[in-house]
Amino acid sequence: MRDHGTFYIDGAWVASAEPRSIDVIDPATEQVAGRVAEAGAADVDRAVAAARRAFATWSVTTRAERLALLTRIVEEYRRREADIAAAITLEMGAPAALAAGGQTKSGLSHFEAAITVLADYVFEEQRGTTRIRKEAIGVCGLITPWNWPMNQVACKVAPALATGCTIVLKPSEVAPFSAVVFAEILDAAGVPPGVFNLINGAADTGAALASHRDVDMVSFTGSTRGGVAVAIAAAPTVKRVAQELGGKSPIILFPGADFPKAIAAGIRHVMNNSGQSCNAPTRMLIPAGRMDEAVALAREETAKVTIGSPASDAVIGPVVSQLQWQRIQQLIEKGIAEGATLVAGGPGKPDGLETGYYVRPTVFADVTSDMTIAREEIFGPVLSIIGYDDSDDAVRIANDTDYGLAAYLWGGDGDDLPGIAARIRAGRISINGSAGDILAPFGGYKMSGNGREWGEFGFDEFVELKAVLGG
Ligand code: NAD
Repeated sequence: MRDHGTFYIDGAWVASAEPRSIDVIDPATEQVAGRVAEAGAADVDRAVAAARRAFATWSVTTRAERLALLTRIVEEYRRREADIAAAITLEMGAPAALAAGGQTKSGLSHFEAAITVLADYVFEEQRGTTRIRKEAIGVCGLITPWNWPMNQVACKVAPALATGCTIVLKPSEVAPFSAVVFAEILDAAGVPPGVFNLINGAADTGAALASHRDVDMVSFTGSTRGGVAVAIAAAPTVKRVAQELGGKSPIILFPGADFPKAIAAGIRHVMNNSGQSCNAPTRMLIPAGRMDEAVALAREETAKVTIGSPASDAVIGPVVSQLQWQRIQQLIEKGIAEGATLVAGGPGKPDGLETGYYVRPTVFADVTSDMTIAREEIFGPVLSIIGYDDSDDAVRIANDTDYGLAAYLWGGDGDDLPGIAARIRAGRISINGSAGDILAPFGGYKMSGNGREWGEFGFDEFVELKAVLGG
């Protein structure tokens, strides 16, 4: 049992002002794996006050001082990778290989990227007789989700530290253990007192942070519902609110695509992390005349997605919670009720996995854009296959969504994928399974958010612009 009754505030582990705590459930066993204290208004005040005091000195540190801290954090993070991975598996059920791989490494990558960006980031430039300055925005409230916990924490904390901001982090109450290890890493790396503070809690704690008068900026990653609530809470204080929200991203196979390769990549991506990725390609768009071929390939690939305990070598583990499991089941039932054809998986738990929040890798065909499973973010291992008539129809369907986080295009000669990419209303378009790019902006159009994280674009979220005329 992990028992974290303290918060990391002003460079020390301090007891919560209130006796409330939150149980953390291991999704593989459905048992309580530990608990964290729940911060109330007094704890939030204390953390924000520490960050405010530290801002006076941290915001005027040199680039070299901040590079030195980021470098020490990278060293310390590498030393603690196994602890991070174990915490992630326990709190959100990621299989051991995924936890040690993508889940843990993505956090490290954002610190390494921040070092690269900070080395050359232009904080000041002359334009005619005007000096343009980019200054640290101030005390930042960072609110993060449970699905890629270290990725989300690191892609906010690294640029915030690099630009000279101070931080109060509130990670997800569903998956808070990795963030505790993360705070230990920052402490061991010598982050000055008050520059980074960690509090735990749920929506009320997040709302107290978002509405706090002495928090200058909130960066939120999570559901669209949560992001809207945070923006409303923040509005009276006119602080900047960066929102990184949900998605319902399309993968489009154009006639020249390598179908077996594209479908294998699409299935792997949508099922990875038990379907709990904001940028998952959950709507697969196929030329109507090639539906049978695509469905057969999708069925074949889905059969390779083994499911089992996070300790096993199964491809996917459980989903994060009972609540998510029920929600996914309801949406699978809804897909059947609305007339989609079940190609693989379906409702209920996989055979032999009655304990744990396991969901069968599920594929629907004959889905239309108006069906609930084509519109709502399911956040489980569920794919909807939709037919299209021609490339205009494909673009129309791809854009027929409230979201706009990502899109995945596959094609060959004559398919003009760059031209299609320009017509898709989404923040990150990938062509023919291109490699990732940690320095490219990550963020959404429409209800997927208004922020851009990663690389220098992530730095821009944490700075104020100042014009010094005649300066
Ligand atoms: P969530 O919105 O329930 O919670 C996210 C965080 O916000 C948690 O820390 C939670 O405690 C807090 N929170 C929730 N309601 C709040 C409120 N009213 N006021 C203040 N804080 C509040 O989301 P989740 O279930 O943890 O995460 C899954 C969601 O995150 C999915 O929708 C996914 O698409 C999205 N996500 C988006 C990105 C992105 O970069 N766009 C990345 C990862 C996840």
